[in-house]
Amino acid sequence: MGCVEHIVLENVVKAYGRLKALDKINLRVCRGERVAILGPNGAGKTTLVKIISGQMRATSGTVRVMGKNPAEFSRELRRNIGFVSHNPMLYDELTAYENLKFYANLYSVGDKNRVNELLKKLKLYDRRHSRVKTFSRGMKQRLAIARALLHDPEILILDEPTSGLDIEGRLELLKNLSSIDKTILLTTHNLSEAERLCSRAVILTNGKVVAECSMDEAERIYLEKCI
Ligand code: ATP
Repeated sequence: MGCVEHIVLENVVKAYGRLKALDKINLRVCRGERVAILGPNGAGKTTLVKIISGQMRATSGTVRVMGKNPAEFSRELRRNIGFVSHNPMLYDELTAYENLKFYANLYSVGDKNRVNELLKKLKLYDRRHSRVKTFSRGMKQRLAIARALLHDPEILILDEPTSGLDIEGRLELLKNLSSIDKTILLTTHNLSEAERLCSRAVILTNGKVVAECSMDEAERIYLEKCI
């Protein structure tokens, strides 16, 4: 089957004064692909996913997400994108169920059944009536993913979602993510978690794509280019 292009970047530059956080980036992600954006601190990973999700505008170049420029169609595209960063941004005083219901009502997406379905999928159903302040970081991140999936987006963007989690939290989160059938972009510096979730990698350093490769080759190339 051919590629249905979900994300296309051509010669994308993001400059902060004289610093080019992204320097002529080209990227193509097809529907259903799971792509890891790998790179050391400061490589430009967060800048890249913020531009793709419409939270930031590129200085120059072309960005298309599902055929549209996210800087101009951010409202419309928000319905097709779920975004999870390392900050779960949840209400600590509300329960897991109340948090999801709150967002479902706010954006008119999903009903009680959808909320419960996602709580089950992310293995939080048994704790649905506990306040989020009693949750581990791993549970909070799983709840943030449930929230990002409420509106059943086509594309899920995960910006270092496992940062600060212990090994068990990471593995649990990755296990849950691997059962999600979406186009996925994952930014991380952790090769082993990228291997668990993604089928190919884009390696960034100093704002440039230095390699695009399969996950089998990623470690060798990453060590060669980034260390
Ligand atoms: P990390 O892994 O540390 O999160 P990253 O790969 O996500 O890093 P970015 O956060 O995208 O990297 O940053 C890329 C470059 O752009 C860095 O040199 C950073 O200092 C710079 N940068 C990011 N945001 C700004 C800003 N608002 N103003 C100036 N420079 C910025």
